[in-house]
Amino acid sequence: MEDSINSSLSSPSPSTPYELLQRAGPRLKQLQQVHAYLIKTGTNRSRSLLTKLAILACSARNSSTYTRKLSLSITNPDSYLFNSLIRVSSKLGSRRNDAVFYYNAMLSCFIPPSNYTFTSLIKSCSAVSALRQGRCVHCHVVIHGFGLDSYVQAALVTFYAKCGEVGIARKVFDEMPERSLVAWNAMVSGYEQNGFAKQAIEVFMLMRDEGVEPDSATCVGVLSACAQLGVLELGSWVHDYIVERKFDVDVVLNTTLINMYARCGDLKKAREVFDGMKQRNVVSWTAMISGYGIHGYGKEAMELYELMKHYGFSPNVITFVAILSACAHAGMVDEGRRIFSDMTTKYGVKPGVEHHVCMVDLLGRAGLLNEAYNHVQGLKNPGAAIWTALLGACKLHKNFDLGVEAAEKLLAIEPEDSGHYVTLSNVYALGGKMEKVEFIRNKMIKKKLKKNVGYSIIEVDQKVHLFSMGDKSHPEMREIYRYLDELMGRISEAGYVTAQESVLHEVEEEEREYALRYHSEKLAIAFGLMKAKNGCTTIRIAKNLRMCEDCHLAIKFISCVTNREIIVRDKLRFHHFRDGVCSCGDYW
Ligand code: ZN
Ligand code: ZN
Repeated sequence: MEDSINSSLSSPSPSTPYELLQRAGPRLKQLQQVHAYLIKTGTNRSRSLLTKLAILACSARNSSTYTRKLSLSITNPDSYLFNSLIRVSSKLGSRRNDAVFYYNAMLSCFIPPSNYTFTSLIKSCSAVSALRQGRCVHCHVVIHGFGLDSYVQAALVTFYAKCGEVGIARKVFDEMPERSLVAWNAMVSGYEQNGFAKQAIEVFMLMRDEGVEPDSATCVGVLSACAQLGVLELGSWVHDYIVERKFDVDVVLNTTLINMYARCGDLKKAREVFDGMKQRNVVSWTAMISGYGIHGYGKEAMELYELMKHYGFSPNVITFVAILSACAHAGMVDEGRRIFSDMTTKYGVKPGVEHHVCMVDLLGRAGLLNEAYNHVQGLKNPGAAIWTALLGACKLHKNFDLGVEAAEKLLAIEPEDSGHYVTLSNVYALGGKMEKVEFIRNKMIKKKLKKNVGYSIIEVDQKVHLFSMGDKSHPEMREIYRYLDELMGRISEAGYVTAQESVLHEVEEEEREYALRYHSEKLAIAFGLMKAKNGCTTIRIAKNLRMCEDCHLAIKFISCVTNREIIVRDKLRFHHFRDGVCSCGDYW
C-alpha cells in the first residue's frame, strides 16, 4: 500500500487527493502520508478534503490523538463532520470518550446537535453500559429539545435496558408518542436480558394487541423469555408465526428455537429444529447438547458431542460446561473425567469455575466424595459454587462431616446469603445436631436475613400463571385449593405418605410441615389439571428453586392417579413424571 501511494505521488499524472484518501483507507500511517501531501501541494485548506481525512482517520487504529487534533484544526467545520466523527466513534465501544469529545467540540463551535448526534452518543454509552455518562446525555437530549424524538427515545430505551435500569427504560418507552419497532424490540429484549421474562412477554402481548408486526429480532427476544419461564404454548405460537410469515431464519433464531424447546421440555421439537438447520455453528450444537443434558439424556448428549467434533467443530468453553453437566446428570463418571482432561490437553481450553463445579458435581453425585473433595482441595480459591456442589453431594450421600465443612466454608464466603444458613441448618439437622440447628436459625433471625421466595410457573392458553407457597392471590384460588385437597386425598389412598424428611432437609425455604401440601409446584399442578383439556395430557411446570422430596414423591403419585405426564423444570434439571416414576431416577 505504501508503495502504491509513493508511486502515485511520484507518477507523472498524480491521482486526485480524493483518490489518494480512498486508497489509503482507515490506516493511520497511510492517511498521515496523504495529509503531508495535502500540505505540500497546498490543498490542506479544503474543508471537504480534511473532513474526509478526519472521518477515515477516526476509524483507524490508535488514531484518537491525531483525529482529535485534526478535527479542531479544520476551519468552519460543519455538523456533517462532527456527526460523522461521533457516529464512527460510537461504533467502536472503546472510543466513547472520543464521541463525547467531538460532541463538546461541536457545541463550542455553536453547531446545534441533531437527533443523529444523540442517537450515536447514546449508542456509544450503551456499548459499554456507561450509565452516568448516558444520563448526562439524556439531560442534553431534553435541553436541546429531542426528548420526544422517536429515534432518540428508542436509543434511550436500549441504553437503559442495557445498563440494567429496566424501570427507567420502561418509563421512556411509555412516554413515547410513537413507538418504533426498534423501541418495542429494545423493551422486549431489555426485560428478557435482565431476567424479567414475564414482563418481556407482557410487552410482546401488548405489541400484538396494538397490531405491531414483530420481526425476527422480536422473536429472538420473546422466545428467550419463553425459554426462561418454560412456557411452551407461546413459544410454539411464535415458531408457527415465524414459519407462517416466512421469516428469514438464521442460525441465531434457530438456536433460540432449540433453546426454547429444550428449556420448555420438548426435546423432540428441539431436535427437529436442529436437524432442519441448513447451517449450524458451535452455539447451535452446544444448545442441543445442553438440552439433552438438562433432561438427563447423557448418552444422546455424548453422541451429539462426538458428531459435532466429527463435523469439524471445536467445542468451546460453553460446550464443555454443557457436556460435563450432561455427564453429571446422567452419572457418566468415566466419560466426564475423560472430557475434562481432553479439554486442556486436546483443545487448550482452561477449565473455569463452571467446569470445576461440573466435575465436583459429577464425582459427588456418583458417591465419590473423597475424589470430589480432593478436586476441591486442588483449586486455588474454590468459590461458593464449588462448595455448593460438594454440599449437594454430601446431602445426597448423607456425609455429615464433609457437609458441615462445605456449608461453613460457604457461609464464610457469602455471609449475607440466607440460603447458606438454611443449608447449614439442614446439614446439622441431618446429623441430628438440633441445638446447632436452633443456633443457626436464631443467627439468621438476628441478621434479619430474608429467605429466597420459591415460585412455580404454569402456562394456560398462553397466559402465564405464577404461584408461590401458600399463595392466595390467584382469582381462582378457592377452587384450586379444593381441587388440590381432593387430589392429595386421592394419592393418599394410592399409598402416598408425606416425605417427612423434607420438612427438615429441604434445601429451600418452603420447609414447615403444614406448608408442604401447598408448595408452589403442587398449586401449579392442581391448577394445570383443573384447566387441562381432555386431549392434552401433559402438564408443564417451571420452578425457580429445587424441588423438595415431598413434592417429588407426590407428583409421582399424581402422574399415576391422573394418568398424565407431568414435566417439572426445577433450578437444575428436568423431571418427567409418568406412571409413578420420574426420569431423574430420584437422583437430583
Ligand atoms: Zn416441595
Ligand atoms: Zn425427578
